[in-house]
Amino acid sequence: MANIDPGKVITALEEVLGERSGSEEHFPLHEPYFAGNEWAYVKECLDTAWVSSIGSYVDLFEERIAEIFGVNRAICTVNGTAALHIALLMAGVSEGDEVIVPALTFVASANAIAYCRAVPHFIDSEWATLGLDPDALADWLSQIAIEGDDGTINRKTGRRIAAVIPMHTFGHPVRMTRLLEVADKWQIPVVEDAAESLGSKLGGKPLGGRGLIGATSFNGNKIVTTGGGGAVLTNDEDLAKRAKHLTTTAKQPHKWHFYHDETGFNYRLPNINSALGCAQLEQVPAFLDAKRRLAETYADAFRNVDGVRFFREPYGAESNYWLNCLVLDNPIDLGPLLELTNATGIGTRPCWTLMNKLPMYRNCPTSSLPIATDIASRVVNIPSSATLGLRLQEKT
Ligand SMILES: *Cc1c(COP(=O)(O)O)cnc(C)c1O
Repeated sequence: MANIDPGKVITALEEVLGERSGSEEHFPLHEPYFAGNEWAYVKECLDTAWVSSIGSYVDLFEERIAEIFGVNRAICTVNGTAALHIALLMAGVSEGDEVIVPALTFVASANAIAYCRAVPHFIDSEWATLGLDPDALADWLSQIAIEGDDGTINRKTGRRIAAVIPMHTFGHPVRMTRLLEVADKWQIPVVEDAAESLGSKLGGKPLGGRGLIGATSFNGNKIVTTGGGGAVLTNDEDLAKRAKHLTTTAKQPHKWHFYHDETGFNYRLPNINSALGCAQLEQVPAFLDAKRRLAETYADAFRNVDGVRFFREPYGAESNYWLNCLVLDNPIDLGPLLELTNATGIGTRPCWTLMNKLPMYRNCPTSSLPIATDIASRVVNIPSSATLGLRLQEKT
């Protein structure tokens, strides 16, 4: 295991990012880019006063999202966490259930489970994809699960295992074919967290629609942004109708009566945000090209740097390279590298704290997590904005 020379890592980063003109210039981890019709579409909302929860951009945005994720229906929501909450409810997750989720994820995946008054049940990840390991899941289920009358039961806790959430870490696709096989064997619905994987492909097809239902995010740091926003994704027309109903206060359509037939949510994405989203989605092909160019340039720059490698997309998959990352040979190099890069204006950060280490999820059921622990101790995210790739393309 070679140790890194932080100076050499910074030199390699600068080779890709370009020299910083002064100490003030900063390369954030991920910044949005508005170079298309954003101003025009948002201005139209302001000019017509259609800024709030209904409007033509909401409908148009939902159509465009469905196209890009390769699903029949998309229902946009106020953020990705809300979309995931609704997706879990649609999958039938309810109070006292357990939902399997990787320990290595953003907190929203676990929080959405808790919002259903269900319990997260953590599973290990794998190095090839940085996502949930379907084989580890198969082994774990064969140890702890039994078939019950209304589904698969965790025999240690007696709770029903109501869903499994694969999450495509930093845009790298989970091995979905194998996962679907395992989930199918145990009759566990798959709820895809596609928050980080807009534009990523597996077998030439987008992610988000392989399970029963999925969710994505349009937060400010994601591939495209609506300021804040998200969407529920599904091929099931009935689930889509119910998701739309539940996210729009469960109001029955009527010219003047306010009649709500259950406790719904106000999870609607405003028209003004949807307008921004429509303009952003038009630029997805350009963003993806730029991000791929950036990733390839990083891969070249780090080819001969000791003690570190650039993480490449899994074999057979096409990643959107949402967040690029370096993998260090030695976990003890992480702290000094984070200090030095951030101090010199290069935005870097470690993986999320594993969910089972957070106070509210400390006592939740978990498999052993050797790989997730290893990944979290050796992965560092580096600047990944599409703008950086666009700049590289301009140079040649
Ligand atoms: C961004 C993200 C979400 C949703 O986040 P919001 O900020 O609520 O849009 C969910 N899961 C993962 C893994 C994410 O990265």
